[in-house]
Amino acid sequence: MIFCLASCGQDDLPATTAQNYEKVVCLMSYEDLTEEYLSSYEAYDGHEQIRKCELEGGRTAFIAVHNTNLGPALGGLRMRAYATERDAVHDVLRLSKGMTYKNAMAGLPLGGGKAVIIGNPREDKTEDLMISMGAAVESLDGKYVTAEDSGSGEEDMVAISESTDHVTGLPPEILAGKGFGELGGNPSPVTALGCYRGLQAAAQFKYGSDDLSGMHVAVQGVGAVGLELCNLLKQDGVKLTVADIDDLSLKQAKDELGKVEIVRPDEIYEVEANIFAPCAMGGILNDKTIPNLRCEIVAGAANNQLQKEYHDQMLADQNILYVPDYVINAGGVICVGYEYFRKSAYNPMDFDITRERMIAHVESIGRNVIESLVYAREHHLNPGEAADRLAEEKFLSGEGLETSTPEEPPSFGTGGGKTLVQ
Ligand code: NAD
Repeated sequence: MIFCLASCGQDDLPATTAQNYEKVVCLMSYEDLTEEYLSSYEAYDGHEQIRKCELEGGRTAFIAVHNTNLGPALGGLRMRAYATERDAVHDVLRLSKGMTYKNAMAGLPLGGGKAVIIGNPREDKTEDLMISMGAAVESLDGKYVTAEDSGSGEEDMVAISESTDHVTGLPPEILAGKGFGELGGNPSPVTALGCYRGLQAAAQFKYGSDDLSGMHVAVQGVGAVGLELCNLLKQDGVKLTVADIDDLSLKQAKDELGKVEIVRPDEIYEVEANIFAPCAMGGILNDKTIPNLRCEIVAGAANNQLQKEYHDQMLADQNILYVPDYVINAGGVICVGYEYFRKSAYNPMDFDITRERMIAHVESIGRNVIESLVYAREHHLNPGEAADRLAEEKFLSGEGLETSTPEEPPSFGTGGGKTLVQ
């Protein structure tokens, strides 16, 4: 059955927005995919709801809500030129499940969800399309909260906010008007800070000390997160080797970091370093690359680093400690999560919603990394499996979250004076 949003022509909207409601929002229609149909997907995991939406201009979007035991399903909006609808559904199923695990491990009272639009973000994106996407988000009545992801940015969230309140990741200027500008802004430096704490935790686990000074870290990708991570590591006197496919990113890294070794993209795997930090893209830990690794720890920001689940075991066989990606890279979602808590007044865990406490929450990622690694050791599991079990314990029971902002554990105090570039 196809539905259309009924609440067109809202009175309190500015004139242009009201026109867009007539033109854009009312044209959005949706239907939920059946369990019978979804069962044909390997990535289907008994998701709560998958909504197919026909947007302005005939573009198709899918919104997936994987699990809401812990709260509304928060996860970004991806826009990509998927070759087929099946590819888009596969991606939204996989990514929304990942968000349930990430949010649970980050100690957030949030479930897991994700949205995808089929289309080339450079060519097919318009403001009206995003307003229409906002109507699609609104149709779920707060069960799903959207944010940025690849192919969408802050300005898209602004357009989406014209048709729904269930959006986060808005620019600080807009939030400043509402009185909490300090909670908005680019989450990438916050993600980098969480990763930095995760690297310290991994060093603590592997070497018995979280002091990174004098260590060698090889960073793949010096974009928004990778470069910021390098800046934090540089303050510790870490030796850095980096690679990127983009010359401009490399030039910026050289300018900011000064002393840094640059290698070709295919050489970064073979660098003899303490830590290899993937900060570029997913699937880079695979049959081809793992045998070449010369590091002792893999810990970085990229999502879905393991191409297949068994690659966790391959790393263990080479005595390489793998830090589960969704545990270490949760800084960004904690950042946008706090913004949403403040904006929506949804705060079941009674968090202190200030920027300072949000940063403290991000710093507790070090403790989550240790928790996963210790659990893995005690239960004879690989770290990825251990993190999955811990996350499942949290979201399946709906319990196990702290009722105040988690504190950074006292043993991770050495990097306390680091400058977080914003
Ligand atoms: P970005 O696009 O700003 O940076 C990625 C960098 O990697 C770019 O400079 C790009 O040129 C480079 N790159 C791409 N392919 C490469 C290759 N084959 N070899 C070397 N370099 C390559 O992205 P980002 O925001 O820094 O995110 C990096 C990763 O972290 C992504 O996987 C992203 O999903 C993940 N992540 C980011 C955040 C965040 O807050 N930005 C949060 C969680 C996870």
